[in-house]
Amino acid sequence: MSHDYAAILEQIADHVATEDFGDARKADYIPALSNVPDDHFAMVICGTDGQEFTIGQADQSFSIQSISKMFALVLAQRAHGDQLWQAVRREPSGSAFNSLILLEQENGIPRNPFINAGAIRVADLITSRYANPDRSVAEFLGQLCGNPDIRVDNTVYLSEDQHGDRNRAIAYLMKSFGKLDNPVEDVVRAYFKQCSVAMTAREMARASFFLANKGVGIDGQTVIAPEETRRINALMLTCGMYDGVGDFAFTVGIPAKSGVGGGIIGIVPGEFSVCVWSPRLDGRGNSAAGIRALEMLIRAIGRSVF
Ligand code: GLN
Repeated sequence: MSHDYAAILEQIADHVATEDFGDARKADYIPALSNVPDDHFAMVICGTDGQEFTIGQADQSFSIQSISKMFALVLAQRAHGDQLWQAVRREPSGSAFNSLILLEQENGIPRNPFINAGAIRVADLITSRYANPDRSVAEFLGQLCGNPDIRVDNTVYLSEDQHGDRNRAIAYLMKSFGKLDNPVEDVVRAYFKQCSVAMTAREMARASFFLANKGVGIDGQTVIAPEETRRINALMLTCGMYDGVGDFAFTVGIPAKSGVGGGIIGIVPGEFSVCVWSPRLDGRGNSAAGIRALEMLIRAIGRSVF
């Protein structure tokens, strides 16, 4: 790693601690997510040369939420291969992550695997093939980051379940088009559980490392083939930040995946994976300080995928 990443992370943390992010607010659609302190910030870089750099609350767990969609996609890809792409498309949606409109217009086939409809369909595909679909994403994440204790946060899960009407509506709409293979309740349970996994920024940066390292994980094991890694990175670049994806490509320019828990993972292929976490979100559901931090990081190293 040819830059002074420790110094860069310090500059970033100093900056985001003082920037006023205006209307940015924590997710409040479930009570469990609104309890996190506003000012928490963590950033962790895992270099392909084995170096790791951290700043802030790197060992404090947060709710990974939609970041889980990327890992679930890898599991579904492993089980179904290219058949997966008959079930979900690969186009940016341009609408909110939990929108139903396109789903109705497009006969129940989700635009991409990272909006809620697509992720619910991916959870359906996992439910068809894995023995324990409620735990398979958490277990996979545990293997990837080297911590077998990665768990679903039950308080968050119960909250997701109680406030899950919109996600159920999405699942029932797909079912009505004959596009969901398993019972709605089984599928949304698996989906809510994967969203409710709790991890630290350090664990998340490690779990994402294979995407920066041609498909080989932090423990040296192959997770997916290099060409699959390129495809996942392409999907994150075009669909990973919801309807903020164009702005993010313009200002930052790397594959990334966000979650409403305030986490974002980013990939500079061949160089490093990064996880940033700060709970206050912009209007599209992406961490406001997280986006600024990634923008500053990429500017400091003078590299993006472009
Ligand atoms: N659990 C959230 C939901 O289903 C995940 C969304 C997100 O992180 N964008 O609405």
